[in-house]
Amino acid sequence: MKIRKYFRGSGRVFAFVFVASVVWLLFDMAALRLSISEVNTELLKELVVKERELTKRQATKGTKVADRDFKHPLQKVQADLGEGKKSDSFDTKVVEVYRKPGKFRGKVEPKKDDATPTGAKGGERKGVNENKREEKSLKKNNSGKDTTVRTPIPPQQQARTGTKEKERRIAPSYSKAPPAVQEEKRPQEVLKEKTIKLQSKETKDTKVVLAQDTKVGLVQDTKVGLVQDTKVGLVQDIKIPVDSGLLKKTSSNSTLKTAKQDAHPTISAKKDVIPIRRLKEGKGVIVFNRDNKHINKNDSAQVLIEDKHKSSLQAGALNPGKLPAGEPVKLLNSSGVRRSAGLHKVMALDVTDKPREVRAVGQFGQAAVVPLDKQDESRRRWSEGYFNVFLSEQIPVDRAIPDTRPPACSENLVHDDLPTTSVIFCFVDEVWSTLLRSVHSVLNRSPPHLLKEVLLVDDCSTKDYLKEKLDVYMSQFPKVRIIRLKERQGLIRARLAGAAEAKGDVLTFLDSHVECNVGWLEPLLERVYNDRRKVVCPVIDVISDKDMSYVLVDSFQRGIFKWPLVFGWSTLPEDYVKKKHMKDSDPIRCPVMAGGLFSIDKKYFYELGAYDPGLDVWGGENMEISFKIWMCGGEIEIIPCSRVGHIFRGENPYQFPKDRQKTVERNLARVAEVWLDEYKEVFYGYGYLHLLDKNVIDVGNLTAQIQLREKLKCKSFKWYLDNVYPELEAPVVKAEGLVFNVGTRKCLALNNGSLSFEICDLSKQSQHFNYSWVRTVRQKAFCVAPQGTGTGVTMESCDSTKPHLRWLHKSNKVLPEHLIAEVSPRGMFQRVCLEGGPKADSVYLNACDTSSLFQKWQFTHYYAR
Ligand code: UDP
Ligand code: MN
Repeated sequence: MKIRKYFRGSGRVFAFVFVASVVWLLFDMAALRLSISEVNTELLKELVVKERELTKRQATKGTKVADRDFKHPLQKVQADLGEGKKSDSFDTKVVEVYRKPGKFRGKVEPKKDDATPTGAKGGERKGVNENKREEKSLKKNNSGKDTTVRTPIPPQQQARTGTKEKERRIAPSYSKAPPAVQEEKRPQEVLKEKTIKLQSKETKDTKVVLAQDTKVGLVQDTKVGLVQDTKVGLVQDIKIPVDSGLLKKTSSNSTLKTAKQDAHPTISAKKDVIPIRRLKEGKGVIVFNRDNKHINKNDSAQVLIEDKHKSSLQAGALNPGKLPAGEPVKLLNSSGVRRSAGLHKVMALDVTDKPREVRAVGQFGQAAVVPLDKQDESRRRWSEGYFNVFLSEQIPVDRAIPDTRPPACSENLVHDDLPTTSVIFCFVDEVWSTLLRSVHSVLNRSPPHLLKEVLLVDDCSTKDYLKEKLDVYMSQFPKVRIIRLKERQGLIRARLAGAAEAKGDVLTFLDSHVECNVGWLEPLLERVYNDRRKVVCPVIDVISDKDMSYVLVDSFQRGIFKWPLVFGWSTLPEDYVKKKHMKDSDPIRCPVMAGGLFSIDKKYFYELGAYDPGLDVWGGENMEISFKIWMCGGEIEIIPCSRVGHIFRGENPYQFPKDRQKTVERNLARVAEVWLDEYKEVFYGYGYLHLLDKNVIDVGNLTAQIQLREKLKCKSFKWYLDNVYPELEAPVVKAEGLVFNVGTRKCLALNNGSLSFEICDLSKQSQHFNYSWVRTVRQKAFCVAPQGTGTGVTMESCDSTKPHLRWLHKSNKVLPEHLIAEVSPRGMFQRVCLEGGPKADSVYLNACDTSSLFQKWQFTHYYAR
């Protein structure tokens, strides 16, 4: 009865509405679930269909995988994510990320508001709490900092470091969104490439034209040499690679290797006759094959390249991005000397000798998953490389990865006569699968004629598989050479060894656990070609150490450092990007490079004195070369159109011959001593005061480096700060001005070598003192010092290496305004405070007293605490 009451009148209406809404909601949810699963299935289906279609197409027509347009679907998401990184100025709200996560090894605590240094391998923040740091330092605690990281922390891993820094924004991992082959950008259409119009030997009239109707990737007719209209997708340009470097060494082709391989592909009139590689239509993948026996008689005809240079691309040059169709492409000067060379669109090669297994683990850069029954193995093997070595092994050495370049990049034009490069991989105990993938990615995605060689510098690895097995494996690639160092030299000297062997015009250094993306090389070389003093770095995409997915990173990131010389990434402020009308494909000037991956003109590298060979093993060399480049007339840029994925590891998987931390600190001290001028005190002041003690560290001989700097007439570090990295806070002293005593209300003065008090007067130079980063209170070359015994205070010649000249100020929580010295009369360590005598205007030491106003001091200006 009661219930029925509720269903009367308006209650009935209400009940009806309620029931109806519940039913509606249930339907709705069901529909939503349905549609989600539908979308999922559709997406999956679409992917499968597309892949199948593609594979079929390749199989029948010889489509090259290279032209797949694996635009990262998350690029858009990326842009949306960008909201969060609004920043008004370079130094306030920049998004910074430091590299190398892991455990903080030092005893020094991270400073909360200090966005600076992360730990290196140990990986937690290096930001050092000033108070604790100073206290520790007073206790002669020399341990605790592990600066040093060359490559950036993978943003995902940052959380682990517990820093408060904003993370470098990064698109979510691939696992969440499988890479889509965009329908509107099919491989055939992606490259509206030129066709090489090849004519028979007899006509001697070979022209390169831009195909009106290019069926890129589909080799319609392989009767190369005789065909009028061969549509070649892979070779976009007449500079036919003589040797792709991909080929297996066959007994008969050694002749091809030598002279022809090394010669510039566009050679003189007679030499222009180069053997064309056959485009093999094997299972949908084009392979350059030098083995002529597979080529039918007609095919084996040689291609003649006209040397008349009827350039069509000048128009293109004036109007970049718009290549006039149907016009012949200007060829190279036969002598190899640049002669108003033509231009072509950046090549997006991705050659491989077998069809890509669509379902392969990690294919297309997707996240790989460890099967349940392999979890233990995967965990066990982690320490072989400090990344998921197990998964890496499952992933094909030539997997496809998403093309993470900004869209404009594929339209960019580069010169036909770019310099060649030697790619140098230094490695020590690198994991087999990643080393191979690194090499394959270079061979597969570099225009063969630009890739002079790949040098593998083995820095005395201990692993067996890196010996004969590696020799055998690499022997199939004529371009790959292995250089074995007899003794462990460390990354820096290993690179020098590689550079000494290099024959290319440009040196390209890469880490041995990378994957070069499509079109990675030409944009780098183009930049060097235009200005040999430009040292260029690709954007370093992230290969996840956990699931090996290839992840796109945020745009507009530049390499910076914070004190004490800790590398990090920082996003250009939005208003800066707007003001400069920067596009996401424009080069980005970098105060410092990450260090692992870059290209540099070989001659210029040597003009700059290469690396300081006194740097050991690992660390600090990126700072050294960066300062050297900028201060001695060069420039460092990140080229967003060049992308290389890198596995960021939490720890070095190799041994350091000496203590790791000490090694890196020593390297940094060398860099600071040679390049930082008076700013080296800032470096030492940020937790490295112990490095000033020659008993603790021997930085080695610096004469050659200092002479080099003089010889090159390099600019000052101040110039670098003012012109290259003005956003860095780098006050050369911590405080300066008058030194006011709160108790006496007078100021410290230095007259005739002795300290006293005077009525404060800003105009008097005798009252001006600095409080330096090495904690001295100084006037010109003289520093305030406790007298050996007793309570007296005197002036001594400043010497940053002398601990007894150091005063703590503004860093001790209990005695913030005091000037605290460490004295050890009769071997007893003691802290004493500087006191102003109320009577005789004298200055002396006394037992520290928190409440004494006569022990409180204030400098006129404070720049850092
Ligand atoms: N490397 C080397 N010798 C060494 C240390 C490192 O050849 O003593 C190589 C290493 O194998 C890698 C490159 O130098 O290819 C850079 O080292 P790592 O990847 O550890 O640097 P990160 O990326 O962590 O900064
Ligand atoms: Mn690395």
